[in-house]
Amino acid sequence: MFQVPRGTRDFTPEEMQKRRYLEHTMATTFTSFGYGEIQTPTFENQELFTAKSGESIINELYAFNDKGGRALALRPELTAPVIRCYVERLQMEPKPLKLYYFGNCYRYDRPQKGRYREFQQAGCELIGTDTHEATAELLALAYTILKNTGLKDIHLNIGNLTIISAIFRKLHLLKDDQKMILPLIDKSQFDDLQIALRDCNVSEEMITTFLDVLQTSDITKIRAFIGDDAEANTELSSLETILDLLRDAFHIPDYVIKLSIVRGLDYYKGLVFEIDAPALGAEKQLCGGGSYDLISLFGGTAVPTSGFAIGFDRTLLALEEEGFQFPTPKLDVFVIPVNPTMNNTVIQITQKLRSLGISADFDQLRRGIGKSLKYADAKHAEKVIIVGPKELENNTVTIRNMKTGAQEVVTLNDIYTKLQKS
Ligand code: AMP
Repeated sequence: MFQVPRGTRDFTPEEMQKRRYLEHTMATTFTSFGYGEIQTPTFENQELFTAKSGESIINELYAFNDKGGRALALRPELTAPVIRCYVERLQMEPKPLKLYYFGNCYRYDRPQKGRYREFQQAGCELIGTDTHEATAELLALAYTILKNTGLKDIHLNIGNLTIISAIFRKLHLLKDDQKMILPLIDKSQFDDLQIALRDCNVSEEMITTFLDVLQTSDITKIRAFIGDDAEANTELSSLETILDLLRDAFHIPDYVIKLSIVRGLDYYKGLVFEIDAPALGAEKQLCGGGSYDLISLFGGTAVPTSGFAIGFDRTLLALEEEGFQFPTPKLDVFVIPVNPTMNNTVIQITQKLRSLGISADFDQLRRGIGKSLKYADAKHAEKVIIVGPKELENNTVTIRNMKTGAQEVVTLNDIYTKLQKS
């Protein structure tokens, strides 16, 4: 009769088990890199997002007025909320400040596989440093998190907006023309880009070289094209140093320079990057990030900032696509009374097991042993304790190993030493 709203999903215990596993792996990697967790509200003042992305963003938001007439919006991402919180409360913290988060995001998107209206992001912001080693570490962290989840095939592509801006200057592109062609670069629509550049009176020779430079990973070619633009040359040298560190110190050699990674010029600047999982097809982008400037826009004292956001749901889809074996949910022990008069003992055994940190459950439907064993199997119980009247007279129970079928009779007192994580 009722269905989940379009673009949203329920998660069953089996699915939640996978999500929690993934969350745990990601959180462990964030903390191993010295990051601390932060949480912000699910909704924010609408202005936070329009200040960052312009009024047109409202079309993509779940935006509403509350009963007090405040214009609010469900967050579409977490960078703006985290930077708002930094400006409000954390500016005096020792630098660099390393913050990570998990959070639900909401976008009025066209739902399809890998694209939802409610989805989860895992991400981080690095505040107060833009040294080469800090930037190299940020790239290493994004890559390592995804690798540590168990993903095998991921591609790290690195671009740079300062270099793209220099190239735009060289092509004599006006600001409006730049705005028009950026989405074409972003979506790698190179045929349309060629037509658009012709319309902007860029020479055929320049267009050919530009398209080549956008798709090459050869730094020499890029350097030759930017010529003597001082800013772009400095940025390119920095990029080389960062990538040397990434390869030689962080031991991550699998990256590609791709200037067609642009991520929109609105608040990103300098280095930008994306990580893809080809297994996902159309919606293959797992992670996007780079350096950006939002602090001054939000009224704080400007310090360098960078970060990235990983699509949590897509990471899970990519793992499933690659056939990753998630740990199965399991119950350590299921306790079965042969008849309800055993219930008191059964409950006491179960409770004692629980207090020892052993997951335990007992039959609550008064089923026969056969059916109870079936249920225990469905719950992936590793062991079953059968409490029968005859055994109980001798202060014993039967412990059954569900994998091997082996059974042994043990005294009530010995149950716990027997089952304590053997
Ligand atoms: P963005 O904030 O747009 O850079 O998104 C960061 C990451 O979040 C993307 O690389 C995707 O993996 C994921 N993502 C973005 N939008 C959606 C969506 N509607 N549904 C699921 N994942 C999304």
